[in-house]
Amino acid sequence: MTRPYIAIRSGESLHRRTFDVLVLGGGIAGLTAAIGAARRWRVGLLTKSTFDDTTTFLAQGGIAAALGPPDSPGLHFEDTVNAGAGLCDEEAVRVLVNEGPDRVRELMEICPRFDKVDGEIVLGREGAHSVARVVHAGGDATGSEVSSALAEAARVGSRVQLYENEFVIDLLTVDGRCVGALTLNLDDGGLTLNMAMVTILATGGAGQVFGRTTNPLVATGDGVAMAYRAGAAIRDLEFVQFHPTGLAVPGQETVQLITEALRGEGAYLRNAAGERFMTEYDPRGELASRDVVVRAMMTETRREGSEHVFLDATHLDAAWLQERFPRVTAGLARHGLDLATQLIPVAPVCHYFIGGVVTDLWGRTTVPGLYASGEVASTGVHGANRLASNSLLEGLVFSDRVVRDLDRYVGRLGEDVRRLRFDLPEAASAARSSDAAAARRRLTDLMANKVGVVRRGDELSAALADLGALTTELQFGEMGAPEYELLNMLTLGTQIAKCALLRDESRGVHLRDDYPAIDDAQWRRHVTLRLPAHEREEGLLGKVERS
Ligand SMILES: Cc1cc2nc3c(=O)[nH]c(=O)nc-3n(C[C@H](O)[C@H](O)[C@H](O)COP(=O)(O)OP(=O)(O)OC[C@H]3O[C@@H](n4cnc5c(N)ncnc54)[C@H](O)[C@@H]3O)c2cc1C
Repeated sequence: MTRPYIAIRSGESLHRRTFDVLVLGGGIAGLTAAIGAARRWRVGLLTKSTFDDTTTFLAQGGIAAALGPPDSPGLHFEDTVNAGAGLCDEEAVRVLVNEGPDRVRELMEICPRFDKVDGEIVLGREGAHSVARVVHAGGDATGSEVSSALAEAARVGSRVQLYENEFVIDLLTVDGRCVGALTLNLDDGGLTLNMAMVTILATGGAGQVFGRTTNPLVATGDGVAMAYRAGAAIRDLEFVQFHPTGLAVPGQETVQLITEALRGEGAYLRNAAGERFMTEYDPRGELASRDVVVRAMMTETRREGSEHVFLDATHLDAAWLQERFPRVTAGLARHGLDLATQLIPVAPVCHYFIGGVVTDLWGRTTVPGLYASGEVASTGVHGANRLASNSLLEGLVFSDRVVRDLDRYVGRLGEDVRRLRFDLPEAASAARSSDAAAARRRLTDLMANKVGVVRRGDELSAALADLGALTTELQFGEMGAPEYELLNMLTLGTQIAKCALLRDESRGVHLRDDYPAIDDAQWRRHVTLRLPAHEREEGLLGKVERS
């Protein structure tokens, strides 16, 4: 089915902006890239909401980096690769752990509020890290401290032109090369062609595809979907990380995360009978890697017929808990819960999108002129299971690399870019328009129920049939952000289900009830998807390729 995803009303005039470098996204990856690029180039940064409405802003635990003995990049490398269940790209991990410490030190100059005691930086411990190596700010408010500092540096200390509430509908390509992006202003409805010699995709993850998620409402996977439509290779979509400790109480729009750093500081997991169970599953106990903890929790809850387990921090000092975890304690208080005196109900919750747009070690995608960095990218550092606190680091390290690589495109194609013209298709006119909000609920329910934390072949096939039916039923006349987001989520949901069905083994965060074992002979490889050239205008479904 042909579904035009660019909607232009007849005769409409388009605004036009021209940059050397266009950055899409205002989280840690986008802001780091924009600030770096603006030292030499004319940079525009667009975000669909505000700078305090990003996944980065919500980050709690901190940033992992081997800042000095007894830690070392070698040790950080081992922990990352061990967590990654056989699928890490070791070269990319080497880049991450070797360059990470310098990038974190640079960030500390922009954001001086990292936690210190007697002038020494405090390091936290998290699951599957063999030493304490996680720097944090404001206790568990690392994300908001870092986001605010970076946004301020972009606003005040750099020449980046910033645009909030500017929704990217699609990437613009000419002869296979990315030349910018088409945007919709969410305040006045105006459409703009943003032309650039280089575009950096930093649009974050896709947790909203599963509904029950720690991710903010903006995390609808737009970047992966638009890169796919533009012909970029995407991979590892079946690897969706569910965090073990999402607050398990009803009625939350975005599920409150209870940071792993709490278990790092000594909190326990208990089953409904009040027993600690993690040591029966892994000698590291509560500090095993996330995939191991999630599997153990699922086994316990199935055995007991319960919906959740409990996090127990009641043996830790109340005043210290308040000081070290102010965000978590305040969030729990809103639900009438007290970390210091009560067991907290927790269950796995959709948290992090490991797959994404394939990049090389310099953040280059397979589309010339298009880079990707942060959660939208698949650099290969996370393998099949991301090590805690490695993602903010990934955004810092690879955005810096993108900036260092920009000479490849910038400065060479200036006039060509300015002369480009686009013949954009007319909007489809539908007699009746579907209810995007209702369709989004249908999509997220079926993703959570049939493609969620534990998967089965028959349910995945049923999910694909349901997704196909939903896609066929939808009709839109006037297109706005909710409709574009829905189409992006449908693209991703369909591809996630497809990849999850194909991978008939359990590895890292991908758990198959019908194939519980890891199968290295068949599956120590990635599933890569690329929309064939002749289907690119059609938008939604593509071919599967193994690499
Ligand atoms: C609750 C929580 C806690 C976390 N804690 C940690 C932690 O302690 N340590 C760690 O390493 N990781 C943590 N993570 C993961 C980490 O925060 C993210 O992976 C990381 O912040 C992603 O950064 P980013 O810049 O790639 O994307 P984001 O910060 O999500 O930014 C994406 C940007 O793209 C914009 N965007 C998206 N689509 C469009 C569009 N169509 N048009 C225009 N703009 C668009 C968004 O508006 C936003 O500005 C946590 C995640 C969550 C949810």
